[in-house]
Amino acid sequence: MRSTLWTSSSTFLREAMFKGYIENVSPLRIGVGREPPLGSRVDLAVVRVRYGESDIPYIPGSSLKGLFRSYAGKIASSYGIGVCSGLSRESCVEIKRVIYEEEGFKEEYILRNLIERLLRNREPLKAMEVFFKNACILCKMFGSMGYRSKISFSDAYPIDDEGRILPFKFGSRTGIAIDRRTGAVVGGALYEVEYVEPGCKFKFEIRCSNLPNYALGLLGSIIHMIDNGEIRIGGFTSRGYGLARIRDLNISIRDFALKGEGKILPSLEVDVDEDVDVSDLVEVRDGWLHFHYDKAWTLIGRLEGVWRNAASKIKRVEK
Ligand SMILES: [Zn+2]
Repeated sequence: MRSTLWTSSSTFLREAMFKGYIENVSPLRIGVGREPPLGSRVDLAVVRVRYGESDIPYIPGSSLKGLFRSYAGKIASSYGIGVCSGLSRESCVEIKRVIYEEEGFKEEYILRNLIERLLRNREPLKAMEVFFKNACILCKMFGSMGYRSKISFSDAYPIDDEGRILPFKFGSRTGIAIDRRTGAVVGGALYEVEYVEPGCKFKFEIRCSNLPNYALGLLGSIIHMIDNGEIRIGGFTSRGYGLARIRDLNISIRDFALKGEGKILPSLEVDVDEDVDVSDLVEVRDGWLHFHYDKAWTLIGRLEGVWRNAASKIKRVEK
């Protein structure tokens, strides 16, 4: 068992990558900026980017990050784990109060002020310990003020491994503006909604550094829920938009403390994380553990099991 905190960025413990395609099986709508107010007659365009001679649709990495953080919060809350919204002025470092004892004196600090004080005193390890003990799981995984995210989401483009554009089609539909409060039609207002027709494959990549098995399991369950339709992507989801399947899933992991001839993913957190035996699933190449297709899904299933066990332990500690 390694004693280094996985939130520390000065030590390289593990790198994990999830890759594959998100294929929309119902219309997908990721709009440009904020939706205009009801009653205005506008075209609601989808985001697109110039690629060679074409304008192609894409799913911004920031949209995926927002989706994953929000559902990770819902899942953690469903286990009774306290999480913050991550919004400015509401994040753990800004709202948590911590009693800190130094040379026999106890003092109460806002988490952020205590961390800054420890850093000023050249105690970065102590500062990281304090962050680790007091920040919620979302802040640790997705980042917080002054603390970098452990997970990065690339923009997802309809482009294959050889750089060729995959088939896509824009569609549009005329909508009638409905007053959300009264349910009445707003003065006959029409608007044109653009979307990406079903069947477009967007290549995604999620890179994680130093995430323990249970945190990979939490991410994995979101990938799982997108694939089985419990989580929809983009806008207009209440009208059936944004259903997707995950295709060609590949997971690659490089770990610096592999056990059992490199086929057991070791626990990264005492009393919370668990070792995961992957000897029956893995292909080892160039120092990386590779999991393809069905085996990647089986790995996700095992990591989800570690997450469920960890969630009840995290909740117990909080009480
Ligand atoms: Zn938090």
